Amino acid sequence: NNLRQNVRRQRTRANRVRGNKMDVATEEKVMDPRTKTIVFKMLNSGVLREIHGVVSAGKEANVYHAVTGDYEGIESNVECAIKIFKTSMNEFKNRAEYLEGDYRFKNKKSQHNTRKLIKLWAEKETRNLKRMRSAGIQCPEPILLRENILIMSFIGRDGFPAPRLRDVEVDTQVWKGIYHSVIKTMRKMYHQCKLVHADLSEYNLMYRKRVLWVIDVAQAVDLDHPLALDFLKKDCVSMATFFNKKGVQSTMSPRRLFDFVV
Ligand code: ADP
Ligand code: MN
Repeated sequence: NNLRQNVRRQRTRANRVRGNKMDVATEEKVMDPRTKTIVFKMLNSGVLREIHGVVSAGKEANVYHAVTGDYEGIESNVECAIKIFKTSMNEFKNRAEYLEGDYRFKNKKSQHNTRKLIKLWAEKETRNLKRMRSAGIQCPEPILLRENILIMSFIGRDGFPAPRLRDVEVDTQVWKGIYHSVIKTMRKMYHQCKLVHADLSEYNLMYRKRVLWVIDVAQAVDLDHPLALDFLKKDCVSMATFFNKKGVQSTMSPRRLFDFVV
């Protein structure tokens, strides 16, 4: 809790992630021994040069800012984000339906073993990000996946993560433009990626240099999922509510937005 408060204080003060190698990471106590071992191996083998502080300490995952090292197949010396899915979390069990209904993961027996289940979530996020990148959607690029640890490109610069839509302060005209990016992106995700985000909110969209970035797609489901359209409805309500609040006159009702996307 102390660390979390610290992180929050830091973020509000400088909005920059700091810290040293593993200290911040291990202090959080969410890294189980196996996860810690994998991260140390990444440092030793040169996958990672440095790990900085916590960008975000969430319920299901922690995100750290880091820099890549020299390692075959990955770009060296670039900022990256490490998303570590927490192995202690019951949250994932509550969300089993997101996996069960998705044909890509349906028959994987691993759903019953917690560690393997978390690994499946990390894999799902990676695969969803790849689909989205192929469709030209702005989202983090997966760099390396090891069990419950996903290294991806960092959205932001010099340790400053891009603000989430929740934290963006611009005038109504600019919000209107962002709104249009959001609805076009939802449509593209649906038609080109065959995906529904399923947790779309002002917390999972980032905005930097006039570009909208979609993040947090571990729970995004294939259109084949029996609940895909229910999830999409929820996403539409969330976006309509947010942009209404921001005073965007042309905000569609959830219903119309749903029709537009589909
Ligand atoms: P969760 O909400 O499940 O904790 P997210 O994927 O939404 O996980 O990540 C949590 C936060 O970490 C985001 O709100 C964002 O501020 C930050 N973040 C996530 N991915 C990146 C990234 N690739 N680059 C920069 N910041 C990121
Ligand atoms: Mn999130």
